[in-house]
Amino acid sequence: MKTTSMAEFGDVVTRVMEDPNLPERTRQYLIAVVHEMRMQGVSGRSRLKGRPHQDITRGSEIWRDAAWLLNSDLDERGAWLSAKSIIGEDAPRYEMTFPTYDARFCVGTMLRPAGAPCKRRTTRSSSVPNPMTGELTMIGACNDPRHRAAFEAQHRDGWAGWRLNGEPTPANNTGGHLRRYMRYTHWDQLYAWANHRYQPGATPAPEPPRARLALVTPIRAKGSQP
Ligand SMILES: [Zn+2]
Repeated sequence: MKTTSMAEFGDVVTRVMEDPNLPERTRQYLIAVVHEMRMQGVSGRSRLKGRPHQDITRGSEIWRDAAWLLNSDLDERGAWLSAKSIIGEDAPRYEMTFPTYDARFCVGTMLRPAGAPCKRRTTRSSSVPNPMTGELTMIGACNDPRHRAAFEAQHRDGWAGWRLNGEPTPANNTGGHLRRYMRYTHWDQLYAWANHRYQPGATPAPEPPRARLALVTPIRAKGSQP
């Protein structure tokens, strides 16, 4: 166990500031958490000296304190709610990619030339899952009755195949930025507290290139705290 140095904190701050994938609110909150860790000396590694089996050193108040740092007008409950909102927003999750308007073409095919894709826009569209992964795609059709029928068939078959395969849940593909920067024992509980839809799963790429800071605090299951 070694003490977390100023240089390590500075290194994380630099990477957070330069990470192009971070939503602004998450970025500010990460910086605030890192600042609070340094000010409160809760990086864990120094506190853990001589107590390798005891990883609980402080309360989970660091999440509240970081929110407070960003908005000192909040009362304590407000600071907890703010932390909950920011962490909930970052909960790793699957989000389907919606095609841009320009990419929404009919699934139908033409008779002349045979099999050529229909170039018309969709007037009816819906999501359809990949039966193997559960990942969703938008498909649609124009007003041509044959194309409508092809769309309905793809839609029906996609959902039927997905159900036959045991309704697989797609892997998380967004969120989890906080978790990528901080090592913390209770991420699943924290995200679940902040976002009731959270399902534990893989955190999406990209990984930060170097070691993360370790935040060693307990989770408390009472009141408005995680
Ligand atoms: Zn069409």
